Amino acid sequence: MKRTLLIFSSIWLFLVATSFVWDYQNAREAREEIALTTARSFFNQIITSRAWNAVHGGVYVPVTGDTQPNQYQDDPLSEIRISKSLKLTKVNPALMTRQLAEISVQRGGIQFHLTSLKPIRPENKPTPREESALKTFENGTREIGQFIVDGQKKSFFYMAPLETEKSCLKCHARQGYKEGDVRGGISVTLPFIAQIPLKRIFIGHVVIGLMGLIGIVICGIQLNKAYEVIRKQSVIDALTGIANRRYFSDQLLTLINSSKREKYPFSIIMGDIDHFKAYNDTYGHIRGDECLRQVAQAIEKTLKRPGDFCARYGGEEFVIVLPYTTRDGACFIAEEIRKNVSDLQIPHEKSTSAEVVTISLGVAEADVIEADSYEKLINQADSAMYSAKEKGRNRVEVFNEAT
Ligand code: GH3
Ligand code: MG
Ligand code: MG
Repeated sequence: MKRTLLIFSSIWLFLVATSFVWDYQNAREAREEIALTTARSFFNQIITSRAWNAVHGGVYVPVTGDTQPNQYQDDPLSEIRISKSLKLTKVNPALMTRQLAEISVQRGGIQFHLTSLKPIRPENKPTPREESALKTFENGTREIGQFIVDGQKKSFFYMAPLETEKSCLKCHARQGYKEGDVRGGISVTLPFIAQIPLKRIFIGHVVIGLMGLIGIVICGIQLNKAYEVIRKQSVIDALTGIANRRYFSDQLLTLINSSKREKYPFSIIMGDIDHFKAYNDTYGHIRGDECLRQVAQAIEKTLKRPGDFCARYGGEEFVIVLPYTTRDGACFIAEEIRKNVSDLQIPHEKSTSAEVVTISLGVAEADVIEADSYEKLINQADSAMYSAKEKGRNRVEVFNEAT
């Protein structure tokens, strides 16, 4: 029982642990997917803004302290004066990207950086991480996304290449780029990343695990109880509460074998209540049943040694098994039983042997040298018991070959 419980509990705990690892792995993958999708959409948003700018061939904005004419732009129309107080400068996609990136950082939002292995503007020089990503893009990689840790800060780093379009050649042709070439890339760093709900997953699994374990233990105990009841029912006589014939048969076979092996004596006694039919006819079956119970208890109480036991053999017949007991010892016990039954003083007015319920008993000792068979031993005890009946009942007879 304990072993089975342990096996089931271990299987259950293994399943819960597997489920925990599975859920944790799924949460990790989901987090990566969310981060990747967010970074990708942000990247695409920047690309769209840049396309809008490029479609217009650059966009004019007022020259201010922060927005100075683009010194890296080779364009005669990079600066135009509208009035005395308003001078406009042409902002190309690259400068627009830079300015948008600065605003985003100031707002504590997503960081992005336009960069290239051959930057025109020094600020666009790649960081070591960006540089290695750019190199992989030259080998055909389409995007990179990974969680990174800088000191205490965890973030998600994403980068995808910028391909040279026709509109870009205006500035970048002089660097030797052709349409379709990977000219650089834009890195997107998400400073906020979804946390894996590790605590929740863990607590959930601990609760499920414990509930399952409690369930297994409760079911195990209930099953064990049910098994015990069934086991008892299979070996106990329901009416008298002593062992039944099946139990007797199993035990007798075991005893015969072990006594053969170890050469020790043992005896059996067969008992049959006298004139019991008449008792039933006189007092009724309910009183008859009660009488059977009382006789069974009296027989059981007579037995003192741990190995001794009695069983109900049939209707009003009982059998008593006495290991390590010779014929003489068994006769003594049989006599005790006879006396104890008679001492119950259960009135039996129709009995011709006494005024109370009595029992006749036959004793047989197993012949360990000849190795008696099961049937032979029972027949011997039975025939001794019938001899007791013949000799007037309420007595003990021992089997002997002459009988
Ligand atoms: P004898 O002295 O020769 O043994 O006579 P007897 O009447 O006891 O023997 P017999 O075998 O003729 O009758 C046995 C009776 O036992 C028959 C039946 O009415 C009764 N009996 C058997 N089993 C039960 C039982 O479970 N309950 C009750 N109340 N009576 C039973
Ligand atoms: Mg009988
Ligand atoms: Mg009888």
